[in-house]
Amino acid sequence: MTPATSTRPNPVDDSTSGEFARLARLATLVLNEHTDDGGLCAACHGIAFPCPSAVLAEHNTALTG
Ligand SMILES: [Zn+2]
Repeated sequence: MTPATSTRPNPVDDSTSGEFARLARLATLVLNEHTDDGGLCAACHGIAFPCPSAVLAEHNTALTG
């Protein structure tokens, strides 16, 4: 996002970035399973892709990446 904030000394950043990293790992796992399979989610059978889980995961990676 904004490079300036990541270099600013702030004790809160440590726990926040740790939480973001955890969410990013979870989101990556979700996105690896919930893939576009001919218009349907490969993990959520019968649900159109992107399924709610994939949408949430993409939001997480957008926030953290
Ligand atoms: Zn899914």
